[in-house]
Amino acid sequence: MTAPLLEVKGVSKRFTREAGLIERSIARLTGAKAGATVHALTGIDLSVAPGEVLGIVGESGCGKSTLGRVVSGIYAPSAGEVLLGGAPVAREHAGGAEKLTTKVQMIHQDPFASLNPRMKVGETLGEGPLVHGLGTAREIRERTGALLEQVGLEAAYADRLPHQFSGGQRQRIAIARALAMEPDLLVFDEAVASLDVSIQAQVLNLFTDLRTELGLTALFISHDLSVVHHVCDRVAIMYLGRIVELAGAGELYARPLHPYSEALFASVPTLGTGRASFQAIKGEIPSPLDPPTGCAFHPRCPMAGPRCKAEVPALKDAGAGRMAACHLQDGGTGAA
Ligand code: SF4
Repeated sequence: MTAPLLEVKGVSKRFTREAGLIERSIARLTGAKAGATVHALTGIDLSVAPGEVLGIVGESGCGKSTLGRVVSGIYAPSAGEVLLGGAPVAREHAGGAEKLTTKVQMIHQDPFASLNPRMKVGETLGEGPLVHGLGTAREIRERTGALLEQVGLEAAYADRLPHQFSGGQRQRIAIARALAMEPDLLVFDEAVASLDVSIQAQVLNLFTDLRTELGLTALFISHDLSVVHHVCDRVAIMYLGRIVELAGAGELYARPLHPYSEALFASVPTLGTGRASFQAIKGEIPSPLDPPTGCAFHPRCPMAGPRCKAEVPALKDAGAGRMAACHLQDGGTGAA
């Protein structure tokens, strides 16, 4: 069996806000809790094989973008570790400061904000490789033209500024900038969410072509079920900072096992756009500041029983290479 390229092992991420003086004083008088901890990720385990594209799906606030940032080394995990090719994604310097890996590159949602408006495209594409010594200035300049052509743009566009491009073209430039760093793993964080549907399809087709050409390995974070189905081999469904189901895209879309996945797939494509974004699921998403006991989905789950409120379901083998975190998979919920 091929060794995984990416391994996420028991990763949790907490964001803690310290209480100010007034809040601490009020807390002392009232007995209320001071400060707050957001449980953004809890016990995430996953792996991605070389050449595989893993989709990460969930409602807004489920932790999928935080996971992307932890994998990229932007956020350090509060617990657990992220390994790329067997080595940690962030390395310690002698002084203790962490250096970001160049082997994981993120492509963000907003192509307008992610490019420096004052830098010519050629400079933007060459900046990272030059700083990290990936070639001489001349080699990097020559490679810039080839990269632009690889993403379907003209080499001469290197002399233009970002405002001279459309949203789709800027996202192509963002992909070229990521490829310029010769990454092992790409993380697409809602990378086509802000584009019109027709432009979105063009960028997705580009991704599919590049994947065939370069054998890319990627995490594809999205709230759009049809986009994920189009480009991913396997899909992880997240809910309130945990993975609740993980399966091959075909199997998952044909027969979701977890009640939350079922609720997501019951969503109706939005009229006129052809997109299958989430429709509202009954009940509100609980706060990650104070997650429910037991299964975090129990306040919204039609199948919930007493066991669900008391016991966190582990992500377990559900057969045929699938995994699910639900008590229904191993003996029931205790519901009458
Ligand atoms: Fe629903 Fe219980 Fe399964 Fe959670 S563990 S998804 S509450 S049935």
